[in-house]
Amino acid sequence: MTEPYTGGCACGAVRYEVSGEPMMMNDCQCRNCQRESGTGHSSHLTFVGAPVQVTGEASLRTTAGEEGTRKSRAFCPTCGAPVFIAFPDMPEVFVASAGSLDDPARYKPQLVMWTAAGHAWDHIDPALPRFEKMPPPPQQDVT
Ligand SMILES: [Zn+2]
Ligand SMILES: [Zn+2]
Repeated sequence: MTEPYTGGCACGAVRYEVSGEPMMMNDCQCRNCQRESGTGHSSHLTFVGAPVQVTGEASLRTTAGEEGTRKSRAFCPTCGAPVFIAFPDMPEVFVASAGSLDDPARYKPQLVMWTAAGHAWDHIDPALPRFEKMPPPPQQDVT
């Protein structure tokens, strides 16, 4: 059993603990992730079926993705930091923001998606597999 993945927002009001290994770790250059992160992409760890404990009250902004998947971006109402993404129709999925980890070095990106929306100034490791939009199944994603 590996160490749980723990993390939280910038001010510490919202915290999480995930007991399990991420199914996928990816960078996403979609416009939503750009706006949420304030820069060229977001970095996410996707957990499926792992026990998750969240403490503190996160604010949620729920939107529907291109394929109608509802996702709730959770951020701290005090400091505004993005912390995780939850899915109202897929409660077993939990997506943590890499920058919110207590140990961000545990994030090891495996692919980059939504390169169609990426910018030349947002330089991402060219060795990573790239997808113009979502990767095809079974690595279908969610962020
Ligand atoms: Zn906070
Ligand atoms: Zn994105």
